[in-house]
Amino acid sequence: MAVVKLQGNIFLRVLGAGILWAQQLEEADAAEKEQLRVKITTHQERRQKYEALDKKLAESGDTQISVTDPEAKALRVNNNGTDVGYCIQAATDQKHKLFVHAEIGATTDKRELAPIALEVKHLLDLKHFNTLSDAGYSTGDQFQICKTAGVITYSAPMPSTSPSHDCIPTAEFTYHKEGDYYICPMGEQLHNVGNPVKRGNYFGTIYRTNACKTCSIRQDCTKNKLGRIIERSEYQDIIDENRERVLANPEYYKLRQQIIEHQFGVFKRQWGFTFTLLKRKKNVMSEVHLLMMAYNLTRMISIIGINEFKRRLGGLAAYLLASMATLKTNIEALCRFEILTMKILKLNFATI
Ligand code: SF4
Repeated sequence: MAVVKLQGNIFLRVLGAGILWAQQLEEADAAEKEQLRVKITTHQERRQKYEALDKKLAESGDTQISVTDPEAKALRVNNNGTDVGYCIQAATDQKHKLFVHAEIGATTDKRELAPIALEVKHLLDLKHFNTLSDAGYSTGDQFQICKTAGVITYSAPMPSTSPSHDCIPTAEFTYHKEGDYYICPMGEQLHNVGNPVKRGNYFGTIYRTNACKTCSIRQDCTKNKLGRIIERSEYQDIIDENRERVLANPEYYKLRQQIIEHQFGVFKRQWGFTFTLLKRKKNVMSEVHLLMMAYNLTRMISIIGINEFKRRLGGLAAYLLASMATLKTNIEALCRFEILTMKILKLNFATI
């Protein structure tokens, strides 16, 4: 009897443990199922959100969409990083280092030189002046517009392009304008073939030679089965003119950093202005213009002294009140920081 009873206890205990384990398993399954359900719902919601953004992007015809500020763009920053924001284009004068003009540009500097230069020309009523800009602004069509408008560019030359880094650089091919051909390092002539081809904002002409077929240094020159190809931009002459000017005047070109870089150092390092508080193009530009106006006012106090500054501000108030009929127009004009600067300082911007 005792043995049977003992066996019954063991069986009951095992059975009880089995039921408990099954319950726990069921509970664990239910919890896991719930977690999975939450995850699936989250992913489905995200998917719907991104599908809606994708549709919006396709309808806009743009290549990017910002979910924080609809007018901001992804911009390439130092070390190949990316930031979402606005690309502020600014011009300052060489003598006083004051801001002359600023506006929001595109996501790269490629097409910004001419619009800024022409606006400065208009604002300061200049016939001729020089511009100093870095390599990002070196674009043939922009040089052409500037030249036509009487603006002399000193823009850092872009590195000469070659088919690949281990090929003889294009710079080692000499162009002969009178005959419209290139001479290659082996002394062969490359002539233009076919009509100019459209490449974005310019037309390019192709130059080739049949001598590549039997050339002894072909492996160092090109990997192309058809031989070495040189493409010449329709703006190449004016690109070369700019390059020669910069190379002939290295000390002058070096002034660029002194003229335009330190203002942004003051904004970021001294004033802690590393981002804007406002969103959307118009608001961001107003915030930046206020900042530049503050910069110009403090610079003017340094240049002419506080007493002279106050005296001229008084004169400005008198100028505003002199004609009540045009008061509103005058004030609106002075709200442009560059015009206010000129009025106070009575500057003569000979060059920038
Ligand atoms: S491969 Fe053609 S272009 Fe290059 S050096 Fe030889 S002949 Fe000149």
